[in-house]
Amino acid sequence: MRFDVLTLFPEIFSGYQTQSLLKLAIDRGLTSVHLHNLRDWAVGKHRQVDDKPFGGGPGMLLMPGPVVEAVEAVQTADDAPPGRLLLMSPQGRRLDQPFVEDLATSERLLLLCGRYEGFDQRVVDLLQPEEVSIGDYVLNGGEVAAMTIIDAVVRLVPGVLGDETSNQEDSFSRAGRTLEYAQYTRPREYRGLEVPEVLLSGNHPEIAAWREADALRRTAERRGAAES
Ligand code: SAM
Repeated sequence: MRFDVLTLFPEIFSGYQTQSLLKLAIDRGLTSVHLHNLRDWAVGKHRQVDDKPFGGGPGMLLMPGPVVEAVEAVQTADDAPPGRLLLMSPQGRRLDQPFVEDLATSERLLLLCGRYEGFDQRVVDLLQPEEVSIGDYVLNGGEVAAMTIIDAVVRLVPGVLGDETSNQEDSFSRAGRTLEYAQYTRPREYRGLEVPEVLLSGNHPEIAAWREADALRRTAERRGAAES
């Protein structure tokens, strides 16, 4: 699976790409992340990409020219499929696990990161991207949102997780989209708190029943009823 990130700050991704699961996925050839600096499509001596909003108001907006031309160039740059274009925006469709699962079926995702006060509306009108929000709050830029999407999607790329079943037990991925049950590791007792006896029993049907009940209980407590 291929990710293309279009951003004014590609250096934000440099540490992220060289760590942990994403690095493993890249090293194994299961995924690739291509960074593109929107400023490379700016014109003029000052390589300007933003300007004041018509009608007045605070801050600066990303101009349509550099952004639209960057996306068009990246989409057609090589033999890769054009991919799904996702524009990071607090006004977009909120990311959740079913949406992540849907994104993970794509061969290629292009993630367009805003900055300042966001994009000139004509970027959306011309490119018709899917606008994606990672939650109802406002970030300084789309880079953290793009990383969030990559992080969530890459877990679902076959071969990336050591144990292929581990993401099936994760919160929101289990039947009914419940939260995951409580988990324990060694030691058996820590500061007077003991691991529930059933988890030490070796009785797998009983362990599964305990986990299911705990998942349902904590889902009801924290999120309301699980999906049927
Ligand atoms: N003025 C915009 C508004 O109120 O809708 C917010 C602009 S925000 C300061 C700058 C950029 O950060 C946005 O263009 C977007 O790319 C990104 N961003 C901010 N919050 C986000 C969120 N919740 N989800 C995804 N991207 C977000």
